Amino acid sequence: MTGSAEELADDERRPALSEKLGPSRDRAELAVSAHEQRLPQLELRGKFEIWTCDSDVGVARSALMADDLNRLRQVIEGAVIRPGDPAYDEARKVWNGAIDRSPAMIVRCAEVSDVVAAVRFARERDLLVSVRGGGHGVGGHAVCEGGLVIDLSPMKAIEVEPSRRTARAQAGVLWGELDQETQALGLATTGGVVTHTGIAGLTLGGGIGWLMRKHGVTVDNLLSAELVTVEGDVVTVSAEEHPDLFWAIRGGGGNFGIVTSFEYRLHRLGPQVLAGPIFYALDDAPKVLRFYRDFITDAPDELTTIFNLRPAPSLPLLPPEVHGRPVVIVVVCYAGPIGEGKVVLRPLRAFGSPLVDAIGARPYTALQSMFDATAPHGWHYYWKSSELPPLSNGAIETLVEHAAAQTSPLSYCITFQLGGAVSRVGEGETAFSQRDAAHNVNINAVWTEDDEEPKRHVEWARRFHAALEPCEFPRRRGRGARPECVRGREVPAARRAEGEVGPEQFPPPQPKHRAAPNERRPAGVRASRRSQRLSAQRITSISSTAVTRPASTTRTLVLAWTRESS
Ligand SMILES: Cc1cc2nc3c(=O)[nH]c(=O)nc-3n(C[C@H](O)[C@H](O)[C@H](O)COP(=O)(O)OP(=O)(O)OC[C@H]3O[C@@H](n4cnc5c(N)ncnc54)[C@H](O)[C@@H]3O)c2cc1C
Repeated sequence: MTGSAEELADDERRPALSEKLGPSRDRAELAVSAHEQRLPQLELRGKFEIWTCDSDVGVARSALMADDLNRLRQVIEGAVIRPGDPAYDEARKVWNGAIDRSPAMIVRCAEVSDVVAAVRFARERDLLVSVRGGGHGVGGHAVCEGGLVIDLSPMKAIEVEPSRRTARAQAGVLWGELDQETQALGLATTGGVVTHTGIAGLTLGGGIGWLMRKHGVTVDNLLSAELVTVEGDVVTVSAEEHPDLFWAIRGGGGNFGIVTSFEYRLHRLGPQVLAGPIFYALDDAPKVLRFYRDFITDAPDELTTIFNLRPAPSLPLLPPEVHGRPVVIVVVCYAGPIGEGKVVLRPLRAFGSPLVDAIGARPYTALQSMFDATAPHGWHYYWKSSELPPLSNGAIETLVEHAAAQTSPLSYCITFQLGGAVSRVGEGETAFSQRDAAHNVNINAVWTEDDEEPKRHVEWARRFHAALEPCEFPRRRGRGARPECVRGREVPAARRAEGEVGPEQFPPPQPKHRAAPNERRPAGVRASRRSQRLSAQRITSISSTAVTRPASTTRTLVLAWTRESS
C-alpha cells in the first residue's frame, strides 16, 4: 500500500456550509483520535463530521462535540438525534421524498424550553439551523444539510375555548388534528385542504383553504403567536404586542423566529357542509371552465371552489372505469346552511355532462381528508405556482393544453378560487400579498422513487408555468423583484430559483434561521464544481489543527490526511 500526503485545508478555502455540498454521500464521518496538545481549544473525543468539496479540503465542525451534545441532552425534555442513531433516517425525512438531506443533528422539541435551548445551542456555535413543523414544505427547507434541525413535530398540544371561539395549538399540530378538536365543538378556522399538512408552515405562509372566502386566509384568523426569537427569547406577538413581528409572521414565512404556538379565531361551521367534487371529461374542460368562470363571478362568500386538471385518482367515490381518465374536477365547499348551498350550486350541477357528481352533505372533516391519498408522504414532488386574474379564454386554453400534456399520471394542476374575504383585507395589513388575485394555480409534478426519467416531470411543470406567465396576475414590483412576503404555501419558494427542487437540482441548504445573522461565513470553494467522495476506508492517517476566527464562535478543524493511492 502506498500513501500520499494531502494538502492542508485552510479556512479561506473551506466550503461554506451554506453552499451546495452535493448529496450527503459526499460527506464522511471519520473517527479521529484526540490531539489535545495540538488542539488546545478543542476536545477531541468522538467522531467529527468531515465536509469535503474535493479530496484535499476538509472541514470539521467542532461545535458538535460529544460533550456539547450531552450538555444539550441534559437540558431538554425531547430528544437529540444524530447520524447513526436508529431514529435518524426516519427523523430526517420530510413529506417530499425527493428531499434527501443529512443534518448533523435533529432536536425533537417536547416543549418551548427545548426550542430555546436548541436556538441558544446553535447560536453559540454558529450552526446552520432549519425549523420543522409538519414537514410539508415542498422545497424541504425544514431539513438542512449538515446543520441543526429544530423539529417541533412532537409539540401537539391543542386547547379550544368554545366560549371565546379561539383555539391555541402548538407548532407540531397538523391540520387534521386541529380540525378534529375544533369540529368536535362545531367550530373551525381556515386551514389547508390536506389533513397531514402542518399548521406552522401553512399559517406562516398565509394559508388558503375552504373557508377563506368567508373567513379570510389562515393569518386573517391568527390572534397571536408565541415565538422564540433568534436571541432565544420567548415573546408573544399580536396586534398589541410586537405588532411588526406579528405583521411579518402573517404571510412572511418562517424567517422571523420560531413559532411555538398559534392562537386562532374560530367560526361556527357544520359539522356537516355541502361539499365535494364533480368530475367532467378533460375534453369538456374548455367549456366547463368557461361556464365555471361565469358561475363563480357572483358567488357568495360561503362558496369556495377549486378545480383540478388531472387523470382521475382511484378514489372510492369514483367508479373504477373513471380511474385514470383525464378529467377536470370542480370541488366545492359551501360554508353555510346546506339548503342554501344547494340552491347556489344548482346551476353548476345542472351544467354539461358530468362523469360523476359527488357533491353532498358530509362532515367538514371528511371533505378535509378527501384528497389526502392523492398527496402521500414519500412520493417525489416538484411544484410551481402562479396567481391569475379572472380566467381569460387564453388562460383556460393554456391550463387545459398543458395539463393534458402531463408526463406522469400522478401529476396535477390545481387552481384555487380566491376573492371574498381574502380580498377585503388591505394589501399592507399583513405580509400575505396579492390579495386581489382571482386564482392561485399550483402545477404539481409528482412521481415515485422508481421513476427512471424524473426530469421530464420537472420540465413539464416548468414549461406549464412559463406558458401561464402571460396570463398571470400583474405583480406590484415586477418580475424578479417579487417581495419575499407573498402568498405562502411554498409558492414563493417555488418561484425563487433556489427553492426549486427536482431530481437533478436539489436546492442548496437554505437556512431559514441563522443563529448568528451578522456573521458572514467566508466565501467558500464551490463544491458543485469539484465535489469528490471521501470515504473513511481510504484514509490511512489524519492530523489536525484548530482555527478559531476572532470574530466568530466557530472553531474550524483543519485536517490533513494521508490516503491510499488508487
Ligand atoms: C400536500 C400539501 C397540501 C397543501 N395544501 C395547502 C393548502 O391547502 N393551503 C395552503 O395554504 N398551503 C398548502 N400547502 C403548502 C403548505 O402550506 C406549505 O408547504 C407549508 O410550508 C407546510 O407547512 P409544514 O409545517 O407542514 O412544513 P415544514 O416543511 O415543516 O415547514 C415549512 C417551512 O416553514 C417554516 N416553519 C415551519 N414551522 C415553523 C415554526 N414553528 N416557526 C417558524 N418557521 C417554521 C420553516 O421555514 C420551514 O422550512 C400544502 C402543502 C402540501 C405538501
